Amino acid sequence: MGDFKNELSIDSVLIHGGIDGDETTGAVSVPVYQTSTYKQDGLGKDRGWEYSRTGNPTRAALEKLIADLEQGSYGLAFASGLAAINTVLSLFKSGDKLVVSDNIYGGTFRILDNVFNNFGITYEIVDTSDLAAVEAAITDEVKAVYVESPANPLLTVTDIEAVAKITKKTGKLLIVDNTFLTPYLQRPLTLGADIVIHSGTKYLGGHSDTISGFVVVDDKALADRLYYLQNAIGGVLAPWDSFLVIRGIKTLGVRMDRHVENAKKIAEWLAASNYVSKVYYPGLKSDPGYETQKKQADGPGAMISFVLDQKYDHRKFFESLHLVTLAESLGGVESLVCHPASMTHAAIPKDVREKVGIVDELIRLSVGIENAEDLIKDLEQAIKASAR
Ligand SMILES: *Cc1c(COP(=O)(O)O)cnc(C)c1O
Repeated sequence: MGDFKNELSIDSVLIHGGIDGDETTGAVSVPVYQTSTYKQDGLGKDRGWEYSRTGNPTRAALEKLIADLEQGSYGLAFASGLAAINTVLSLFKSGDKLVVSDNIYGGTFRILDNVFNNFGITYEIVDTSDLAAVEAAITDEVKAVYVESPANPLLTVTDIEAVAKITKKTGKLLIVDNTFLTPYLQRPLTLGADIVIHSGTKYLGGHSDTISGFVVVDDKALADRLYYLQNAIGGVLAPWDSFLVIRGIKTLGVRMDRHVENAKKIAEWLAASNYVSKVYYPGLKSDPGYETQKKQADGPGAMISFVLDQKYDHRKFFESLHLVTLAESLGGVESLVCHPASMTHAAIPKDVREKVGIVDELIRLSVGIENAEDLIKDLEQAIKASAR
């Protein structure tokens, strides 16, 4: 960004960050450069673009934008969050080990357990909110700590700055999946993380219409290696999808404000009710992650998990909802509810799942930007309808 842009607050960077419009025509929106290749003027004389797996102007505008938002120097866009994770995990080699948060996105667990494990890259699951446990897990073969905060689906908060102190001291990489909060609420690179990962499918796109993923780093050598892997592995984001995510990001600030406002109301309502035996939400003062969350982020996000009281049948609850939709995914404008044990986290063996608290009665709610009272009314009628 130009110098004056460095002074802008994130509300303005969302709209004017990255490449702002089209320099050639003045088009206010970055055009969709729907092309696979580019004319070269002679051997070795390209105009900065060679082939769209390697680079595409629409994708490049988005990559610059996500880097600006995360306050990193380099951004990379992928066809999905998992394509981004695949590329980051490809930094490691046989014999390397990762220390991983104990409740993470199920697909992240799956790719570690059933793909990279086959290549001799191992992992150890640790409660990363417990700093002593993180420190104890660091051995020679450990090359990185992989954290989700708040984690999926129990919203466990890890003190990113404190873990970064441990990884810096021991020469390991700190990787943070920032999907649940987005750079609008949390910027892990500024807290000492080395690599930030996103599923852009969620809040960044924001409209449940596009699958995408991101990686952002600040270190040049690390960026060069990641760009190499991005091109070598090839899981890049298409031009049209890049356009859609740029469009989504423009309204991220106003959406997140409403998401969080609604989530706070719903979490407080749930916690004060007799309907649930537990509410997980780092925006509640009673939540163990509340203070750390407040210290390291600009808001608690809009993901809430809760355990329905035994008086209610969770299967019936899902079937009784009218406004809130039962579906995988999160972070869209519409409220979505899911059953982690059988949906997002089904890839995790039952004993591992239950040990960390992902019980069968656990319900995960992605609070949308509808009217909060309408959402509460719908949740309440569905809970009442599910009484045993
Ligand atoms: C959805 C999600 C992913 C995977 O992203 P896809 O875009 O579905 O591939 C990774 N991490 C978190 C926290 C997610 O919610």
